[in-house]
Amino acid sequence: MSFPRSVFNTQFKRLYSFFPRRIPTKNRSKYLVTISGVTVAGAYFYIENKRRPKYPVELCPEYFTKYKITKRIDIDRHHYLLELTPLIPQANNIWEQVNARKLWSVEVKQPELMVVRNYTPLPLKFTEDDTLKQLEAGQNNHGKLIFYMKNYDEGEVAKWIRSLPQNHQVDIRGPFVEYEIPKGVNVINFFTAGTGLVSALQVMLNTSAPYTSTMHVFHSCKQSKELGPLFGILQDLQKNNPFFTYTMFDSSKHTDIRSQWKTFELLVPSATKIRGGVSLVCGPEDYITAIAGRKLVPLQGPIGGILKQKGWTNDNAFKLS
Ligand SMILES: Cc1cc2nc3c(=O)[nH]c(=O)nc-3n(C[C@H](O)[C@H](O)[C@H](O)COP(=O)(O)OP(=O)(O)OC[C@H]3O[C@@H](n4cnc5c(N)ncnc54)[C@H](O)[C@@H]3O)c2cc1C
Repeated sequence: MSFPRSVFNTQFKRLYSFFPRRIPTKNRSKYLVTISGVTVAGAYFYIENKRRPKYPVELCPEYFTKYKITKRIDIDRHHYLLELTPLIPQANNIWEQVNARKLWSVEVKQPELMVVRNYTPLPLKFTEDDTLKQLEAGQNNHGKLIFYMKNYDEGEVAKWIRSLPQNHQVDIRGPFVEYEIPKGVNVINFFTAGTGLVSALQVMLNTSAPYTSTMHVFHSCKQSKELGPLFGILQDLQKNNPFFTYTMFDSSKHTDIRSQWKTFELLVPSATKIRGGVSLVCGPEDYITAIAGRKLVPLQGPIGGILKQKGWTNDNAFKLS
């Protein structure tokens, strides 16, 4: 069967010709280039969109970023060190972005319970032989985060994290700054108990945007062994940094602050003797109450306890969570 020539020209050619009839023959190569360009660009954006992760790569407070558990070093039944590695290496140096005068934490999500808990990253890294080392200035270790963790027998999240296998993915968001050391402050008395020590270490170990003034740490613990390698890091800080001292109150050596209250009282500096000083308190509830009076969450509550006796007030003393 054959079509009359006139039908072919008017119908088939119009329907199947690649070029619209309005485009003159001399412009058809331009048309081809435009169509190819649009197709290539479309394909590029489609592939890029497929390739790009559906979660943020860098740590940010608004959205959860995916990390995996790459190391867990058990110290004892209740304490461990944790290394979390972002699924995609990060370019931002969080230790530069959040300088050492800011005390910050991240939130870890427990998806089954739909709860989050805060944990305090430390500017440290593991070497190949699992030694903990301070991050050097400018290093971000591809965004890996190191934590000192305590798991409670009755607790939910820290115990759950400890039970997770290597490479398990966890969602993290942050940084959340809880306290910023005010300008002009050049002496910090840091009263810490248990994992509260991490806040003091976070400030002192940041070499990317360092805190260069004085800090005196008064740390209470059941035994120094529960700090694992952090104890050596604390000792090195005191040895190498003339602006840093620590005093340990160790229950296992009968030097806990309860039995050594008088000695402790003598050690706590009077507010009037320090110009440009702040006292920070971080630890369990009963510890905070003894040192600085009850913390009324989410507010501070008046300064009480030993700090009040020594003249500290809400203007120069702060209770951390
Ligand atoms: C800003 C900030 C930073 C923090 N940084 C760290 C950190 O770096 N490392 C770390 O290990 N923790 C840190 N914490 C504490 C952490 O957020 C959790 O509160 C802790 O892990 C307990 O949570 P959980 O779900 O395991 O226990 P939960 O289920 O909350 O607690 C259940 C039970 O555990 C016991 N328990 C829980 N917390 C305490 C406590 N502090 N003292 C005594 N008993 C307790 C109690 O019996 C409690 O009833 C931080 C908290 C804040 C607010």
